[in-house]
Amino acid sequence: MKAPASETFEQANILGKIRCLLLDIDGTIVLGQKQTPGAERLFEAIEESGRSFLVVTNNNSISVGEHAARLRGAGLPVEAENILSSAEVAAEFLKTEWKCNSVMVLGAKALRNALLAKGLKLTDENPDCVVVGFDTELCYERLKRACFEIEGGCKWLATHPDVAMPSPEGLWPDCGAITAAICTTTGQEPDIVLGKPCKYMGQAAIRRSGFTAEQVMMVGDRAETDVLLAKENGMYSTLVLTGATSSKDAQRSGADLIVDNLGQLAKLLLANVPK
Ligand SMILES: [Mg+2]
Repeated sequence: MKAPASETFEQANILGKIRCLLLDIDGTIVLGQKQTPGAERLFEAIEESGRSFLVVTNNNSISVGEHAARLRGAGLPVEAENILSSAEVAAEFLKTEWKCNSVMVLGAKALRNALLAKGLKLTDENPDCVVVGFDTELCYERLKRACFEIEGGCKWLATHPDVAMPSPEGLWPDCGAITAAICTTTGQEPDIVLGKPCKYMGQAAIRRSGFTAEQVMMVGDRAETDVLLAKENGMYSTLVLTGATSSKDAQRSGADLIVDNLGQLAKLLLANVPK
């Protein structure tokens, strides 16, 4: 625990209210193909203390089933139904907020399938809007067509803001980088950017948890997405130092708790079980 001892009572007070943990993936519960220190113990502590969890990810280049398989491969007990990705949130948003029927998608198969599952029609001819995701199959011809649609006044949405995804081989251009190419070409910003830290994503996660915002804690390794998502939605937050944030930067993050690893959080959860 990095906070001064005078804050311990307040932190215990917070943890005693928490019924559901929202968990980020990379840098938080796994690093590459391996679980982070204490991750398995955190899942055990969640179960033992009668809490629940939901894995919340911006990465829509793979399906929730594939995310779950990767996490189980790292030794963590996660099923597809325990995961909320920006693909499902985008599909919900397009149907209920923008009332779209047809969309042009720059995105991987997992995103396209999530949109189809919500009853959206995928088309490159006069779509109701353009959806940009983490397109690991990006093709120049379709990038060009998307720019034409947007220049012509078509609404557009980015599924999440991340510009790069760390991998063992180097940084992959993520949704934010593809969005930047379109912005640079057309001079148009997306009408909305979903994913963490967008408020709509936080609300979707809270609804799925079945609890109120004050009973939910976001656990992640980034202040600008994970901690901010919590703040925007009235949830508590824990910043873990196994990923993108150094212990020096963590002090400025505004997180309610800062832990070196998830083993520490597991101990705190067991010591402060909700009544
Ligand atoms: Mg992360």
